[in-house]
Amino acid sequence: MWTLPLPSNKNAIAELKTALTYCNGKAKYELTKEEVAAIKELYELYEKLAGRAQQPLLGEGFTAATKAAVKEGYKEVQVKRRLAALRSRLILASNRCPVCSISTVEDLDHHLPESVYELLAIYSSNLIPMCHKCNNKKRAVAGETPQNSFIHAYYDKVPQDERFLTALTKIIDGALTVEFQIDRTPTLKKNVYQMLNFQCNRVLLSDRLKKEINILLTGQAVPLEMAFGEEKDAAAVKELLIKQDEHYTRKMGKNDWRSSLLGSLAKNEEFCAGGFIQALGLGNA
Ligand SMILES: [Zn+2]
Repeated sequence: MWTLPLPSNKNAIAELKTALTYCNGKAKYELTKEEVAAIKELYELYEKLAGRAQQPLLGEGFTAATKAAVKEGYKEVQVKRRLAALRSRLILASNRCPVCSISTVEDLDHHLPESVYELLAIYSSNLIPMCHKCNNKKRAVAGETPQNSFIHAYYDKVPQDERFLTALTKIIDGALTVEFQIDRTPTLKKNVYQMLNFQCNRVLLSDRLKKEINILLTGQAVPLEMAFGEEKDAAAVKELLIKQDEHYTRKMGKNDWRSSLLGSLAKNEEFCAGGFIQALGLGNA
């Protein structure tokens, strides 16, 4: 969840040229040598700026026709088009959406929107694999300040050893309520903290996770009941939840919603002391 390794962009210029050429080798749009060199510089600047929205990336010196042609070239990154291999390489690099960690990846999101940064429309470092729902929510955001941006999954760093995604779990009238929040931990940078907050709210993370939480905890019902047993052993329930937190932490990281949730439930005394029975709809038999 959150970040992905930066994919290789060593073929970026070759990919750009492919996008502007027909299958038969005829040019759809001819870039001058100077333009190719200037786009290469623009790509390098993008790397240096780690994908932050900055005026020089707008490519103001380029003609409108060139910008439109490059933007149009993104069509070749669709399924079955000339750059479909680039698409599958980027999408296959991620098992789940880095934003929500719920759904599989279906889309490529332009981190800096192609409607504004046309020359970055087919640049691999600007193309982030995302699920359809998150991509839809991300599409319309301004992305100018940390208060209205998503993190850049390739460039931004999040702490691995500190838990910044926390689940607040409460039992209200027997039912479990869960809210996720981002905590400002010692090594989580302020701007990344602000972006994480923004993106979690924007994609309605807590709300979308309700169904997933149900599925995850329903699968835990029998082990929880067995741990609790006739002795009503809250400590055994707590220990089981700690072990499951550790398991998901190894598998998905410390800041995946699954590990955060199980870690929080392990600390929820009411849940461990039998609150889970009603909350998971058990005990009616
Ligand atoms: Zn998603």
